[in-house]
This record gives sequence, structure tokens and C-alpha cells, in this order.
Amino acid sequence: METYLEAKNTLPVVNNVDVLVAGGGPAGIGAAISSARSGAKTMLIEHFNCVGGIATSGLMSHWTGGSEGPIYEEILNRCQAQLWPDENADHNLWQHINHEKLKLVLFDMLEEAGVIIQLHTDAANVIMNGNRISGVITHSKSGREAIMAEVVIDCTGDGDVAALAGAEYVKGREEDGLMQPVTLMFKIDMVDYNRAIFPGSFETKVEVPRGEIQALGHRELPHPAGHVLLYQTMVSGQVMVNMTNLTGIDGTNVRDLTRAEIECHRQVPKIIAFLRQYAPGYENCRLLETAAMIGVRETRHFKGLYSLTAEDIVEARLFPDWIATRNQFNFDIHNVKGPGLDANGAQAHFQSRGKYTIPYRCCIPEKIDGLLLAGRNISGSHKAHSSFRVMPICVNIGQGTGAAAAVAVRDGIVPRSVDPAKIQELLLSQGVKV
Ligand SMILES: Cc1cc2nc3c(=O)[nH]c(=O)nc-3n(C[C@H](O)[C@H](O)[C@H](O)COP(=O)(O)OP(=O)(O)OC[C@H]3O[C@@H](n4cnc5c(N)ncnc54)[C@H](O)[C@@H]3O)c2cc1C
Repeated sequence: METYLEAKNTLPVVNNVDVLVAGGGPAGIGAAISSARSGAKTMLIEHFNCVGGIATSGLMSHWTGGSEGPIYEEILNRCQAQLWPDENADHNLWQHINHEKLKLVLFDMLEEAGVIIQLHTDAANVIMNGNRISGVITHSKSGREAIMAEVVIDCTGDGDVAALAGAEYVKGREEDGLMQPVTLMFKIDMVDYNRAIFPGSFETKVEVPRGEIQALGHRELPHPAGHVLLYQTMVSGQVMVNMTNLTGIDGTNVRDLTRAEIECHRQVPKIIAFLRQYAPGYENCRLLETAAMIGVRETRHFKGLYSLTAEDIVEARLFPDWIATRNQFNFDIHNVKGPGLDANGAQAHFQSRGKYTIPYRCCIPEKIDGLLLAGRNISGSHKAHSSFRVMPICVNIGQGTGAAAAVAVRDGIVPRSVDPAKIQELLLSQGVKV
């Protein structure tokens, strides 16, 4: 490949903080709030014009699973406490997301905690001191700037910062590197809630006048789309659609992302036409909006001091160095080659002994100091990742790493040297339960 040597620049150092959180998705929210509430001067940088990540910019339908955690529950409670016009107070929908309300709740929680928020900002490079990260170079409308930090928490989903810092990773599943498919979420309205069907999982089979809906989807929808996933919202008539699908995409490759956005946008009108034709209650549905970004399920799995396994989840292991507790979700592996779920039936056969914990070691990259991983990019197998990638668990992981970073700063040591017992003491005092 032809190359170009970029000229060296002198950059302004615009902030000097204890803890810098890169990425404001569920993990970044948990990390930033927890770090700031634990007393560290904390800054959050985010690419988009709002925080929430896939929960907001990705137009996600609902927080899934039965996880518990104080910051996660506070988010839900604060969203539930305000009923917006047109919303109904159906308690069955307590985990379903009103995206605009969630954005405001998250801004409030971050600001109340004292987090410095900077939107429209990309983490573009790292500032290293040997193997230790000491800051991040950002790219924004203000140009390239430097932010110095004692600890950086990578909550970018893809682990952009960790990759730039030289942390080791693999992509996708162990045997062939294939990653879960991507999906562009979208919202429709004009759905007749009195008659509408809401197949919430791939296994939900619904008989409709023309046949069974998943079979019809498999036959009629543009491949590799082909499954029907529809979710109620708190506004009657509006429905979240999780039905676009594209395989063979690497979410860390901008050309793949571009192809995925174009292809999935093209699937949207075909899916709407399918729903109007086959799904009762959807005869008059129309597009309200598509997500601001394609939803990427899986990319880099970093090499941490420990890699979470499927057995750890099934056995509900209580790790001595836990930093995230009471996590609950099954294995949600989508078919990496077509529509629907993984052929091995990891989800259908899922059984566990209870809620599981995540050890601190999964968040510490093996060879880089000053850096923590949080969210879907922590160290874990392809199968384990399919469970811990969901948003409530990402908030819990973020919360744990935020507390860990604050303890590291307070004690003047690098994160890997922090005694997990000190992090746990802090988390327990903040309402985390084992
Ligand atoms: C299609 C789809 C459906 C899903 N369904 C559900 C569901 O129903 N329920 C559920 O709980 N979970 C669901 N998930 C999983 C869940 O949404 C994600 O795994 C979760 O949001 C990951 O959280 P995160 O904080 O690690 O990353 P993200 O939510 O991806 O947040 C990362 C944030 O970092 C920002 N960012 C990225 N790179 C940079 C950078 N270089 N500089 C600055 N900012 C950056 C992004 O803009 C984003 O805001 C789904 C995921 C997908 C893709």
C-alpha cells in the first residue's frame, strides 16, 4: 500500500484529568459516573452529539436480561419517573427505551456527578510513556488536541484506544475470526397496537394469515436479513425494528462500515413492505427514523489478565476480584453467515446457575499500563462476549472500572496494582450487591 508520513505537530493540551473515559455508551456512562462519584476528576469524550452509544444513537429497543446494579437501576428509575406526552405507564415496558428521554437523563446524571463532557470528539491517537498511556489525542472541529490523564478507560466498544496503545487483541470467533452480523435499527409508527404482533426473539413463532411469520421472513426478506424482531415502545403505535442484517462486516474497517450502512439502509423499505403485507397490525406502518449509526455487535476481543469463558457464565462464578456483579443474560450469538441465530443453538440450550460476576482482570490489558477496558471490548471468548455485550452488563462493567480508576488515582498507583478488595469496598458503599 502507498504510504504518507504525517508531519509532527505541536498540540494544545486542553485538559488534564485524573480519569479520561473514551466513548459514552452504556460502559462509558457507568465508568464516568462511577469515577466522578468516587472523587476523581473525570472527563468523557464521545463521537456523537449525545451520550448513550447504541442505546441512543443506535436506536436500541430495550435493556435486556435480568442484571442488577445501582447505576443501571438509577437510569431505569429516572427514565420511569417522568412520563412524556404519548407515553403509557405500562410497567411491562420498564426496560424499553425512549431515546430522547434517555439522552437527557444521562446528561443529567453525568453533570450531577461532575463529569466534564465533550461531544463531537474522537479519540484519534494515544500519548504513551513506554508501555503506559498518559493521554489521548482527540480529533474534532477544534482540530487535534491532547488530553492528559492518569487513567484512561476505553469504552469505545471496538477498543479503539487500546488498539492504538498496542494492546493485543483478536477479532471475532476463535476458529475463523468471523464476527456477529451488523444491524441498522429503525423505528416505525402507525402500527395498530390492538392487533400487532411482537415477535421478540428468533424462536418466537407467530401464525399470521399467510403462514408463520419467521418462515415468511426467511423466504421473503432480502438475504441475509430474514428474521422478524419487533419491539413495543412506550408510545402506542411506534415499534422498534431489529430486522436489517449484514454478515461479513468488520466494524473496525471504515469501508466495511460504509458498505453496511448503504446495504442496511436499502433493506429498510423492503422490510417495511414485508411488514405491511404479512404482519397483522402493520398494514399502514411507515418509517419514522433510522439509527445514527449501524449497530456493530462484535469486533475486537482484547487480551487481558483473564479472559471470561462461557463456563464462567454458566457456572455463575463468583470471582475473588469481581468488579461487576449480578449480571444475567443468555448466549446471544447471531448467525455469522445469514439470518437468525447461530446454528449451534447456544441461546436455546442456555442454562445457568444464576447471575454471574466479571473479574477485574478482564478489564486490564495484559501489557499496557494506565489503561482499563470496559463494555463489549473486555477480555472474553466469542461465546462469553455474546452474553456480556448487552447494555446492562456493560453499565455494570463500566461502573466497576470507574471505581477502580478512582482508587488507582487516589492511591497514586497504576490500575493493575490496585487491590481489588479496595475497589469492592467502594462499590459496596455505592450500592453494588454481591
Ligand atoms: C443490533 C444490535 C442489537 C442489540 N440489542 C440489544 C438489546 O436489545 N438489548 C441490550 O441490552 N443490548 C443489545 N445489544 C448490545 C449492546 O447494544 C452493545 O453491545 C452495547 O451497547 C455495548 O456497549 P459499549 O458501551 O461497550 O459500546 P457502545 O454502545 O457501542 O458505545 C460506544 C460509544 O463510544 C463512541 N465511540 C466509538 N469510538 C470512539 C472514538 N474513537 N472516539 C470517541 N468516541 C467513540 C461511540 O460513538 C459510542 O457512543 C445490541 C447490539 C446491537 C448492535
